[in-house]
Amino acid sequence: MPPSTADVRLEIPPTAGLPIRLRDLFPPWQGDFPERAAAFLGVPGVGIECSGTACLVVILETLRRSSGRRTVVVPAYTCPLVIFAVAACGLRLRLCDVVRDGFELDPEALARACDQDTLAVIPTHLGGRVAAIGPVAAVARQVGAFVVEDAAQAFGARQDGRSVGLAGDAGFFSLAAGKGLSLYEGGIWVAGDPELRREIVRVSGEIVPARPLFEAWRCLQLLGLAALYRPRLLRYAYGMPLRHALGREDPVAAAGDLFSSDIPLHRVSGWRRSVGSRALARLPGFQAALTARAAARLPRLARLQGVKVFADGPGGEGTWPVLMLTTASAAQRDAALRELWGSGRGVARMFAHALPDYDYLHPWLEPRSCPNARDFAARSFTISNSPWLDDSRFEAIVAALERHTQ
Ligand SMILES: *Cc1c(COP(=O)(O)O)cnc(C)c1O
Repeated sequence: MPPSTADVRLEIPPTAGLPIRLRDLFPPWQGDFPERAAAFLGVPGVGIECSGTACLVVILETLRRSSGRRTVVVPAYTCPLVIFAVAACGLRLRLCDVVRDGFELDPEALARACDQDTLAVIPTHLGGRVAAIGPVAAVARQVGAFVVEDAAQAFGARQDGRSVGLAGDAGFFSLAAGKGLSLYEGGIWVAGDPELRREIVRVSGEIVPARPLFEAWRCLQLLGLAALYRPRLLRYAYGMPLRHALGREDPVAAAGDLFSSDIPLHRVSGWRRSVGSRALARLPGFQAALTARAAARLPRLARLQGVKVFADGPGGEGTWPVLMLTTASAAQRDAALRELWGSGRGVARMFAHALPDYDYLHPWLEPRSCPNARDFAARSFTISNSPWLDDSRFEAIVAALERHTQ
């Protein structure tokens, strides 16, 4: 039965995840997930790890072993897990500010942040948007650093017909809940150079243990995700904890940004790979529908006074798990989110803060000025592009934004 608009109990997820179907969970098992993922991306081979963060760990550990350099440069507005991946490899972190009114690394700030100790730079394709890697890679190459593309939220995004993650040296995608295709937790990494690919596979084999009990727990969690990722049940799994966090004025918990610094590493079982393989067959059609809906809705949002909507530059074909926006002022954004975040309509913050503004991250960060990242954190928000966000709910969001941006 299609969800009815009058049903106020529906909870729209903050991102457009691909729902798992019951038959994905049953035989015949598909043993070809890496091959199918590689074909989907148009690359000769991929690696599968237990999370996007685990992918970043195996990539960074491989690079660390090839070099005496020890510093990794990360945008000051990104997922806190990136920090913990850097720390897990015993590497030093350096934050770099983003461009004004955006999430991409600022090439000028990057040039100042890089030096002879810079091992790698990690630009992000945030919210499915295709970031310009060229200017970042030029700065990195100048100092002899690697480029690792964080495409955690951009599985399927392309630039000039080629998957993101290949413009630099390596890249990774997340298969966590809510990031499009999901195994509950999981990740896929790519690397253009076959030599580097072999090295990452070797390092992964060396540092990632099997841990079958941990994997069994993930299998149960994947069953839970398959059962609960429905608009009538997400209220319990997502909406109620969200409203509880908002009630205690805890934006970090509300945005789901509280992570442990302890990054689990273990092998992904054949069963979870099989679920991914079955679901992947539906991903192209699902993503095409997301692209069409985004194209229809973005112009409506772009007409709002002072609102910027994020799209891709020439040749960029990103994915559309969310629509990403900024308002003219932080006060407008906060007023809009007071009404909409927690309303069950899939409006949220991407991340609660710029990285230096999470208290729990202070032990891992050196102080560094990042005014643009702070400004972006204060003025940006996301609207879910879930198929369950129907036109009338979307119009209610637009009407609220209209009131708060006048
Ligand atoms: C989710 C995310 C990660 C980490 O991926 P996991 O699969 O959750 O470990 C890294 N970077 C960004 C930008 C993310 O959104």
